[in-house]
Amino acid sequence: MQEIVDVLIIGSGPAGYTAAIYTSRAGLKTLLYKGDQPGGQLTITSDVENYPGYPDGVLGPQMMVDFEKQAGRFGAEIRSGMINSVDFSDKKLKSISDDGIEIQSKSVIISTGASAKWLNLESEQRLNGKGVSACAVCDGFFFKNQDVAVVGGGDTAAEEALYLSKLASNVHLIIRRDVMRASKIMQERILNNKKIEIHWNSEVKEVLGDKEVKGIEIINNLNNTSKEIKLQGVFIAIGHQPNTSIFKDFLDMDENGYIITKPGSTETNIKGVFATGDAQDNIYRQAVTAAGTGCMGALDAERFIANY
Ligand code: NAP
Repeated sequence: MQEIVDVLIIGSGPAGYTAAIYTSRAGLKTLLYKGDQPGGQLTITSDVENYPGYPDGVLGPQMMVDFEKQAGRFGAEIRSGMINSVDFSDKKLKSISDDGIEIQSKSVIISTGASAKWLNLESEQRLNGKGVSACAVCDGFFFKNQDVAVVGGGDTAAEEALYLSKLASNVHLIIRRDVMRASKIMQERILNNKKIEIHWNSEVKEVLGDKEVKGIEIINNLNNTSKEIKLQGVFIAIGHQPNTSIFKDFLDMDENGYIITKPGSTETNIKGVFATGDAQDNIYRQAVTAAGTGCMGALDAERFIANY
């Protein structure tokens, strides 16, 4: 089966929905595929306090429901499902969905976002969902009054540790260097929180447990000594990787897989293909910046189609 649209938007976080609001409002036939995590990373967070326009904050999942509703209001077709492959070798851009539909579009706006990174230990993968998680807001509740660990030293790890400190008895923060990458204010909050114990220069060697997490073995990378900590939950918060693998045969990317765009625009190396949100941003990665680039992508697509 084949479908023809003006703009295909791949991904449904703040970037994708904002792009859909703009292109559909401009009268372009717009189709958006939501992907395997509809609403993106905001659906696994709780209060968003730094998105302008919500003076009392808003729940991430609710915010994405609002974005979707707003995009639908102007006629964008919003569809559950994935785009599995693309062919950008011709002016008629082709994208194939997971149910086998070939979508031909004048323009493609990529807003596939990024996903959490894992340590890639066998024990971590085996115990994923059985005590190992990458989302404190989703799973923290299960560890009420228990001991947990958070791995990582960035803002995400700091946020997860602070969130968990309100539920768990003790939070072990495992940081591989002797400094944190997190912002100053988050570092201060961590250091002033009596429930959080920092293990500097430490790496997780193994997650312990057969059917559920019983503890972790950590190694001090300065003196190579290891120790075991008994606990019930492990939260991995070591950053994200962009969801861009289906584009690798066509688009220029950096060494981490972030799509390279022309400075000051969302243009990629392929005419008519625009990249927005976390798929092309390894610096800011905020809902509001993603929405901003979604708007840019839509305006770039409109201009491109006007001269098609
Ligand atoms: P990040 O800043 O890249 O930090 C990743 C952390 O994980 C670093 O401490 C890193 O250590 C560590 N790490 C990476 N790979 C590791 C491994 N294999 N084993 C052990 N540790 C590992 O990622 P992020 O914390 O997800 O933040 C991403 C961006 O989003 C940042 O710009 C951040 O400011 C932003 N953010 C903002 C907010 C907010 O404003 N509320 C909240 C969350 C995130 P090294 O330092 O040694 O590399």
